[in-house]
Amino acid sequence: MQLDLNVLLADGYKSPSQRARRVTEGWFAGQMYCPACPSPRLEQTRGSNPVVDFLCPDANRNRGGKK
Ligand SMILES: [Zn+2]
Repeated sequence: MQLDLNVLLADGYKSPSQRARRVTEGWFAGQMYCPACPSPRLEQTRGSNPVVDFLCPDANRNRGGKK
């Protein structure tokens, strides 16, 4: 697992808290994996929730029913 954060993600963010948040989100999206299925990645979502969530595209598809 890659532990160094990509500070380049914080470019354009002036607030230290915003920069930290952006870098952490980028690391999360790149390094986390789904706890519910073998999917190796999560997708970042910004719905109506002000808090950024990460969803597994596979698990989300499963929850949405068969299509
Ligand atoms: Zn999943």
